[in-house]
Amino acid sequence: MLRAPALRSRLKGIRFLVCDVDGVLTDGGIVLDNLGHEAKRFCVQDGLGFALARLGGLQVAFLSARESKIVNQRAQECGVHLVMQGKKQKSPAFAELCLQAKVPAALTGYIGDDLLDLPVFEKAGLAVAVANAAGEVKQAAHWVTRNPGGQGAVREVVEKILRAQGTWSKVMAQILGRDVAKSQK
Ligand SMILES: [Mg+2]
Repeated sequence: MLRAPALRSRLKGIRFLVCDVDGVLTDGGIVLDNLGHEAKRFCVQDGLGFALARLGGLQVAFLSARESKIVNQRAQECGVHLVMQGKKQKSPAFAELCLQAKVPAALTGYIGDDLLDLPVFEKAGLAVAVANAAGEVKQAAHWVTRNPGGQGAVREVVEKILRAQGTWSKVMAQILGRDVAKSQK
């Protein structure tokens, strides 16, 4: 964990946010029925978080070691255009996403929860572990969220970045359709 001033300077620089899926966008649960159909549970507050991120000028991507149609569907709902799935080697996939977004890794944040995320933590400008992450992952992170994955962790990260960048009030006003100048009073 970084001390507040060092964390703040990293938060200020972030232009691109890459999110692991299982355990970060979800609580890690995968529901399988007798027919082999899979279901995941997402957090609606994270969904609005992606809209807030976009208004704040951040690009967002999903990066998953597993592969599921549900993830593409969720990405579409959230307006997330960069999605990589089936990537157990997450570090090269992360590098590829940074190229696609045209943002250097040093200005990219990554949110993860498990051991496969550790190689990305070494590359990302901001490495965030969710509250329910594995011990090693929390230890390696620059910051650990209060909220667990699937329960507002991503929203918490987006808000922290936008607050550090001084765009939170403006973005909130935009989402509420209010006059920006008034909302800052
Ligand atoms: Mg995960």
